[in-house]
Amino acid sequence: MTTPTATGTVVVTGGAGFLGSYLCERMLARGAQVICMDNFLTGDPANVEHLFGAPGFRLLDCDLTGFVHVPGDVDLVLHFASAASPADYLRHPIETLKVGSLGTLHALGLAKEKGARFVLASTSEVYGDPLEHPQRETYWGNVNPVGPRSVYDEAKRFAEALTTAYRNAHGVDTGIVRIFNTYGPRMRPADGRAIPTFVGQALRGEPITVTGDGSQTRSVCYVDDTVAGILALAESGFAGPVNIGNPEELTMLALAGLIRDMTGSRSPIRFIERPVDDPEVRRPDTSLAEEKLGWRPVVPVEEGLRRTIAWFAAEPVTETVA
Ligand code: NAD
Repeated sequence: MTTPTATGTVVVTGGAGFLGSYLCERMLARGAQVICMDNFLTGDPANVEHLFGAPGFRLLDCDLTGFVHVPGDVDLVLHFASAASPADYLRHPIETLKVGSLGTLHALGLAKEKGARFVLASTSEVYGDPLEHPQRETYWGNVNPVGPRSVYDEAKRFAEALTTAYRNAHGVDTGIVRIFNTYGPRMRPADGRAIPTFVGQALRGEPITVTGDGSQTRSVCYVDDTVAGILALAESGFAGPVNIGNPEELTMLALAGLIRDMTGSRSPIRFIERPVDDPEVRRPDTSLAEEKLGWRPVVPVEEGLRRTIAWFAAEPVTETVA
C-alpha cells in the first residue's frame, strides 16, 4: 500500500461523525486530499466545519447505501459510516443494518475500482457478551443474533466477512480495526453513551444514571489514541483484525464516581435498568496492535476525561438523557 501523501486522496465515510471528523483532520494535516462522505444520520457538518476552507477538503452529502461515485484517484478508503451508540442504532435499526451491509459493499467496491487500501471500522461489539476475557482477536464472540443489539453487532460481523471476502476473492488491500469504547470532544451530549451522559448529568447537577448495579466493566480509550491506532493500521498494510482500545478496565460505577469527582459535582448516583444483552465485561488484549503496529494508548483516563469534561463544559449542554 502506498501511504497517502501530499498527492494521495483519502475517502472517509462517516467523516462528519465523531471519529470520522478526527480522521479527516489528521489526514489533511499529513498532506492528503480528503473526501468526507456522510448522510448526517448521526453526524453533523459542524464536526468538520473548521476544515471547510482547508485546501484538499471536500464534504459530500452522500448515503453509502445508495449509488456511490467518486471521480479521480483514491488511495485509501476509511469506512466509518455507521451509527455507533446503542441509542442511535436502536433508533435506526434498519439503517444500521443497511450501512453495515450495503454501505460496506459500496465502500469496498470503491476501493476495488480505485485500487485503494480499505480500512473497516469494526467494533469490540463483534465479541458480544464475551466468554473470554480480555478479548483477543482470535475470539469468535458471543452475540445474540435476534437480540436488540444484533442490528449493530451482526452488521459489523457481516461487514468483517465481506471485507475478508473482498480481500480473498478480489485482492483488495484491506484492514479491519476492532475499536473499543472511545471518548472525547465532539461526542454528542445526548448520544446515550456513558461518558457524555455522565459528564452532562454531573455538569447539570442531575442524578448520574448508572445501569444495573454498575459492576459491569468497560475499557475507555481517548480519541487521540484510537485515531493514532487506526492510522497506524491504515499505513501498515496489515489485514488484521486488530483490537484498538485501552486495556485499563473500569466498572461503570467507578467511571461515574471519577467523573463526579473530576467535575466537582454533587450529583447523586441513580441506578437504572440495565439494557438487554448489555455485555458484562469488556477489555481489549492489545498485544497484537503493539506487535504489528507498534501502537499502545498513552493518554491516561484522568487526562482524557479532563479534556473531555472541559470540552463539554464549554458546550451548551442542555439535553437531558434518560
Ligand atoms: P458517529 O455516529 O459519530 O459517526 C458515524 C457517522 O456515519 C455519522 O456522521 C453518520 O451520519 C454517518 N452515517 C451513518 N450512516 C450513513 C450512511 N448510510 N451513509 C453515509 N454516512 C452515514 O459514530 P462514531 O462514534 O464516530 O463511530 C464511527 C465508526 O466507528 C462507526 O462505524 C462505529 O461502528 C465505529 N466504532 C466506534 C466506536 C466508538 O467508541 N466511537 C467504537 C467501535 C466502533
